[in-house]
Amino acid sequence: MTDLVLSESLAAARTRLADALNAAGRPADGARLLAVSKTKPAAMIREAWHLGQREFGENYVQEALDKQAELADLDPIVWHFIGPLQSNKTRDVAGHFAWVHSVDREKIARRLNDQRPAALGPLDICLQVNISDEASKSGVSLEALPALAEAVQALPQLRLRGLMAIPAPAEGLEDQRVPFARLREALEALRERLPGAPLDTLSMGMTADLEAAVLEGATLVRLGTAIFGERSVRE
Ligand SMILES: *Cc1c(COP(=O)(O)O)cnc(C)c1O
Repeated sequence: MTDLVLSESLAAARTRLADALNAAGRPADGARLLAVSKTKPAAMIREAWHLGQREFGENYVQEALDKQAELADLDPIVWHFIGPLQSNKTRDVAGHFAWVHSVDREKIARRLNDQRPAALGPLDICLQVNISDEASKSGVSLEALPALAEAVQALPQLRLRGLMAIPAPAEGLEDQRVPFARLREALEALRERLPGAPLDTLSMGMTADLEAAVLEGATLVRLGTAIFGERSVRE
């Protein structure tokens, strides 16, 4: 996609999400688009912002901080941290993001809570679940999820909003739906367990599997390639 025209790809992504919601029989505002801008320049984020996009997802802390500094004049803008999070980066994330989707252990949650500047209000949290049971290193297991959710729910500077997953790649709508259904069921179970928590978020669906995720109730789809084009090497 060397000749990507961002206005066209963003419009196509919006149409794709709207069509998926419609096909699922869900309301048009049932899911939001998170524009995943990792490895892409600040200028592309600025352009997307001027096209009305407000929520952006980043994976690498230093890269994100550099872009945020360059884009400090854009208001409102909502930054989501969606990448693997190491202990030594929690302070930067707690101070510079509105959301973190990749919390998968209590130690990280506690550090984010302790390091969240009070003036910013609570940090919105999704717990990342290892839903495909692959050899994937990130994500809490379904078995350990309830205890982690209860621990996070008890931390005052964190607001537990829901669950996130990156399933193993699968071909075809029906196969893609299976892990997303599992994540939806896990969220439903958590709602019963933690009646006070504002558990309104299922962060699931990427460029390859948005439709399957929306069919299973995604409320926040994370689109990178579909909006910004292919990423070069790096990953
Ligand atoms: C890169 C990334 C995305 C976007 O993936 P695409 O396939 O480019 O849409 C979504 N979520 C996470 C966690 C990512 O790391």
